[in-house]
Amino acid sequence: MELIFATHNQNKVKEISAILPSIIKLKSLNDLNFTDQIPETSKTLRGNALIKARTIFNEFQRDCFADDTGLEVEALNGAPGVYSARYAGNKKRDEDNIYKLLKELRNHDNTKAQFRTVIALIYNHKEFIFEGIIKGKIINEIKGDNGFGYDPIFQPKHHLLSFAELSTEEKNKISHRAIAFRKLIDFIKGKT
Ligand code: IMP
Repeated sequence: MELIFATHNQNKVKEISAILPSIIKLKSLNDLNFTDQIPETSKTLRGNALIKARTIFNEFQRDCFADDTGLEVEALNGAPGVYSARYAGNKKRDEDNIYKLLKELRNHDNTKAQFRTVIALIYNHKEFIFEGIIKGKIINEIKGDNGFGYDPIFQPKHHLLSFAELSTEEKNKISHRAIAFRKLIDFIKGKT
C-alpha cells in the first residue's frame, strides 16, 4: 500500500522509512512535486497536524499523514509548545530559540520538559491521531553536535547525555517522533 507523508523534510522520511514494513510504500511531498508550504495556523500540535493532513488529502484523495512537534517546558506553562520552531522569531534559527529558552528559564528551578509529537492520519477517509512523548529536562549548557532544534539542551529522563550527544540511531530509538511513528505503524499493520 502507498501512504503519503505530508512533509518536505527528508530526514523525517528517512527516520520513518527505517522502521516501516516493506509492504508500506512511503511518498513524501517532494516525491509528489507538491512544493507549497502549508500554513500552520492552529494553536495546537494536533490542529496543525490535522491542517496538513487534510490539505494533502484534499489535494490527492489518498491515505496520508502529517506530524507536528513541540517542546513543552513545565515552568513556562508548556511554552514554546506549538511555537517551538519560531520561538525567537520567524527566522526559525535553532541557536536563537535555545538562547531565548535558557533566558526565560533563568529564574526557574523546575527544568522539567517534554517533547511531544502528534500525528494526524487520514486512512480510508477517516481521521486518526497518534501521540509520542519523551520526558526529560532542560540543561543549562549546550552539549553535543548531533541532531537539530533544542537537542543540545534537552536531556531525556534516565539518560546522562543530551539528545545532541546521542547518535541519530540512539535518539531515533527513544524519541517522541519514534514513539508516535511506531503507534502509526502498528495501526497500519493491523489494517493490512
Ligand atoms: P516539527 O513540527 O517537527 O517541524 O518541529 C517543530 C520544531 O520543534 C522544530 O523546528 C524544532 O525546533 C523542535 N523540534 C522538533 N523535534 C525536535 C527534536 O527531535 N529535537 C529538537 N528539537 C525538535
